[in-house]
Amino acid sequence: MIYDENNIFAKILIGEIPCKKIYEDDYVLSFYDINPQKKIHALVIPKGKYIDLDDFSEKASSEEMVGLLKGINKVAKKLGISVDTGKGYRALANISEHGGQEVPHLHFHLFGGEKVGKMVE
Ligand code: 5GP
Repeated sequence: MIYDENNIFAKILIGEIPCKKIYEDDYVLSFYDINPQKKIHALVIPKGKYIDLDDFSEKASSEEMVGLLKGINKVAKKLGISVDTGKGYRALANISEHGGQEVPHLHFHLFGGEKVGKMVE
């Protein structure tokens, strides 16, 4: 599968479409989901062009991998939902068709601010 340069998160990354930014560094951009499913619903995306977690795991550099995980932790801390700043959260990545992925740029959903509920419906 080829990365779709016109996907909505690619456009957010280059500033063509606005977002409610939470955090940004060399490796990640984080912003609020436009259609929140929980009290707090953030998205964390790598800056590199990766379609999904499998694509990222196969092609990303070690630096990018560390950057993404550290980014998730920084966002959780900033939102007050990390283990040390709050009561925890769920990090979730949908992968391709059966995973229910809609936007073909790797993203982690961070859900928190309340009990998140059942793991899978
Ligand atoms: P997926 O189903 O691919 O895991 O999740 C895609 C997420 O992106 C959905 O939760 C959806 O609400 C969110 N989303 C789609 N378009 C936009 C947008 O233009 N801006 C923001 N902030 N979120 C979006």
